Amino acid sequence: MHEMTIATSLVDQVCHQAERLGAARVAEINLRMGVLSGIARSLYFCFPTAARNTLCEGATLKIDEVPLTVLCTHCDAVKTPAALYNFRCPDCGYPTPKVLTGREMQLISIGLVPPEGARPEDLPQDGARPPENDQPAEKRP
Ligand SMILES: [Zn+2]
Repeated sequence: MHEMTIATSLVDQVCHQAERLGAARVAEINLRMGVLSGIARSLYFCFPTAARNTLCEGATLKIDEVPLTVLCTHCDAVKTPAALYNFRCPDCGYPTPKVLTGREMQLISIGLVPPEGARPEDLPQDGARPPENDQPAEKRP
């Protein structure tokens, strides 16, 4: 089941971050998902099962759906097609194969519950993509 695979990989990814940051568990997961992926509802459905017995168990999943936009090279403008899978410019009817948004699936942030005894401010709440390397690149003379 495709959606279950996606839900499981999402849970794995979030659990990995939560473990690395020393969280007791995950409270909230914020995702951006393009409308073309068409799986937001299935993901809500599969998530509790995928999250069972992990740090993500009981977490709230929030999915922000990203609308479909395409680039019309004829109008030279960003357009929103009248319907999904209708890749034509709504104004001039020109085919618009270049999809700008609507296909993405992106982890925006996760809310973490700190371990027993720790203060909430001890944990970064926005742990989805912490800077891996904030040192400036070494410059050679
Ligand atoms: Zn157009």
